[in-house]
Amino acid sequence: MTWDIKDIQKWGWRQHPLGGVIKDPGNSCQFKTGGWRTFRPVRDEEKCNQCLICYVFCPDSAILARDGKITGIDYDFCKGCGICAAECPKDAIQMIDETMAKKDNAGKFR
Ligand code: SF4
Ligand code: SF4
Repeated sequence: MTWDIKDIQKWGWRQHPLGGVIKDPGNSCQFKTGGWRTFRPVRDEEKCNQCLICYVFCPDSAILARDGKITGIDYDFCKGCGICAAECPKDAIQMIDETMAKKDNAGKFR
């Protein structure tokens, strides 16, 4: 779509097209935010005592849990904010450089 904006300086608010409109509520699961990540949280299962604090604090619901236990991290949605690592009382989550995470495992993501 191409807009004719040569007179945009004279436009009133009604002439500006709507922006940022969500027409289909509940679509956030289609918007994978993991691509924003610079640092990747990696959980040490030996140190983790399954307190679930990281699960509670993660703003993206990217810490996966089942039957009261952490089962993994959903890297499709984890933005790498590091809150889980900062809040973990056992220092069981390490934030590692995303590119190094890829290199460390010869193509396999940790
Ligand atoms: S780094 Fe942030 S988004 Fe990713 S799992 Fe931890 S708290 Fe959630
Ligand atoms: S906050 Fe730390 S110790 Fe608690 S469940 Fe998460 S990784 Fe494990």
